[in-house]
Amino acid sequence: MLEKLKQEVCEANLELVRRGVVIYTWGNVSGIDRKSNTMVIKPSGVSYDNMQPEDMVVVSLETGETVEGKWKPSSDTKTHLALYRAFPELGGITHTHSTHAVAFAQAGRDIPALGTTHADYFYGDIPCTRELTAAEVEADYEGNTGAVIIETVRTRRIEPLAVPGIVVKNHGPFTWGKDAAASVYHAVVMEQVAEMALKTLLLNPDAAIAQYVLDKHYLRKHGPNAYYGQSK
Ligand SMILES: [Zn+2]
Repeated sequence: MLEKLKQEVCEANLELVRRGVVIYTWGNVSGIDRKSNTMVIKPSGVSYDNMQPEDMVVVSLETGETVEGKWKPSSDTKTHLALYRAFPELGGITHTHSTHAVAFAQAGRDIPALGTTHADYFYGDIPCTRELTAAEVEADYEGNTGAVIIETVRTRRIEPLAVPGIVVKNHGPFTWGKDAAASVYHAVVMEQVAEMALKTLLLNPDAAIAQYVLDKHYLRKHGPNAYYGQSK
C-alpha cells in the first residue's frame, strides 16, 4: 500500500544525509496520505545505508497502530502523529539534530529572523518551545513533545506553513511542509539560517531586520501576490 508515498518518504530521509543535516540515525522524516489517514515514516534505528522504500512503516493516524511494515516505526512517531492531527495543512514532517539549530534549542532561544535568507522561508522568528515538565516526560515523552510544539505554535499565533518549523528546548528542530520533501527542505534551510544567526549574534548581539524587509522577502515568494521565480 501507498507505494508512491513510501518512495517519497524514503527519498526524503536519504536527502537529509546527502545535505549533511543527519549523521548515524539521528533523524526521521514522515509523510501523510490524508485520504486514507495513514502516515508513512522511517523505521526506528535502521541505518540509512541501503534504506529502501519497503523499509518504511505505515501507521494509522487515528490509532497510532502499525498498519504495514516489517520494522518498528521511528521512536518519534507519536510526535509526528500529534502534529498531523493538530494541523491538517501538514503533508510532511522532518526531525533532525542538526548542530546550529540544536545550539539554539539547547540555549532555549528562538532562532531570530535577522536577514533576507531567513525571511525567504520563515516569516518571523523560529520559536523555541518551553521545557517539558518531569510529569510530561514521565507520562508520554514523545506525545508531549508534540503537545508542547502545538502549544507553542498556538500561543505564538503562528501560521504553520508560514513558519514551517520550531526548535524543542534542549532537544532540536522539527520542520514541516506540504509534503515530505518540503519538510526536509525546511530542515536544511533552518540549519543554514541558524548558523547565520549564531555568527551574526557573535558579531553584533543587537542585530535585527526591519519588519518591512521581512515582509518584502517573505511575501514576494509566498502568498497571493508572490512574484519570485518563473511564472507557472
Ligand atoms: Zn530527537
